[in-house]
Amino acid sequence: MTQIEEAKSGEITREMADVALHENIAAEMVRDCIARGEIVIMKSHKCKSLGIGKGLLTKVNVNIGTSSVAINPDAEVRKAIIAVEHGADTVSDLSMGGDIDEIRRSIFHSISVPLTTVPIYQTAAENGPFNEIDQDDLIRNIKKQVQQGVSSVVIHAGFTWDTLISLKKASRTMGMVSKGGSFTAAWMIANKNENPFLERYDEILEILLKRDVVLSLGNAMRSGCVHDVSDKPQLSEIYKNAELARRANDMGVQTIVEGMGGHVSAKEIFTYVKYHKKVSGNRPLFVSGPLPTDIAVGYDHMAACVGASIASGAGADYLCAITPSEHLALPDIEHVREGAIAFRIAAHIGDSMKYGLSDLDLNLARMRRQHNWGGQFKFALDGGKARQIHSTGDTCTMCGDFCALKIMEQYLGS
Ligand code: SF4
Repeated sequence: MTQIEEAKSGEITREMADVALHENIAAEMVRDCIARGEIVIMKSHKCKSLGIGKGLLTKVNVNIGTSSVAINPDAEVRKAIIAVEHGADTVSDLSMGGDIDEIRRSIFHSISVPLTTVPIYQTAAENGPFNEIDQDDLIRNIKKQVQQGVSSVVIHAGFTWDTLISLKKASRTMGMVSKGGSFTAAWMIANKNENPFLERYDEILEILLKRDVVLSLGNAMRSGCVHDVSDKPQLSEIYKNAELARRANDMGVQTIVEGMGGHVSAKEIFTYVKYHKKVSGNRPLFVSGPLPTDIAVGYDHMAACVGASIASGAGADYLCAITPSEHLALPDIEHVREGAIAFRIAAHIGDSMKYGLSDLDLNLARMRRQHNWGGQFKFALDGGKARQIHSTGDTCTMCGDFCALKIMEQYLGS
């Protein structure tokens, strides 16, 4: 039985108990939220079960993987390890170049967190062009990746021919910017066919059901610049994904809804997240970014950290990290590290908005007050980086002899 099926029958599984213990909440609450589709549990071959959703800490995903023009399998494995070392709760392998099965296997065995894939990427890389790909190729790849042990798969089933027609008519600056969405749309147009994931939806659910793999409903219609506001195609996808999530849950498949990703004006993020959560019946919301500005090129991890902090604070449950390489290149190892840390910061800020301030901040502040550098590095999100910057022994060169803390200790005694 899957986690949802167990939860609906009133059982608290070992996985639910693990999540409850880790998150310091009641196991009954985890069970009831899973039964309603508000929490999913991703399982992996090596790690504790990971809960995502209502009442839980915000989780962070980091994307890695080769492209068709940048293929270095060892570097991708290294990126996956670095991402996990810097706080990634999950890793997505988006490889499209080289021996994709072997790369996925290597990454899978090198990390201890759940692995997600977007099966149409491999189909497009190996079976293209799109008019030569048939629906069975798409299904075969989903089946193969599930059998390899991935914890979650993404499909872009939330749009139809009608959505594509409304996208063509929409006055967007950036059109469609989702890679998986564009592959799915290109397949539909090349084969004059309805969305294949929609047509074979029940069959896909049966595949996921067998191994309790989490379904992630992709966000194909997201906006690609802050001037592209919420429009008909976006709204249509939100409603379709909500309907598909209900169907999946009814069949016993745990489901995450992707939405709100891309580029969204800062003042809209809070409202949009609330709206998504309401329409989807409070199902776990996965958000890529969002970027609240388009001009931070080279620093998109910083801009996205701001957007993701607001999104998480408004209720997004799961964030997809953005790196400094966004829109520019396949990220290198250092950029993956920076993206992971930026999003750990966003998740932490979001959680402080959702659940109140954490003792972690208080602990660090106390260490800072005591000029306890070792203590600060211990409580910092990236203590190694902090230690590296603070290279002056017991002092801080910012104010030197005129340290405000020391002066007040001297004059105020506190
Ligand atoms: S020297 Fe300035 S920056 Fe450094 S700890 Fe003292 S007050 Fe803070």
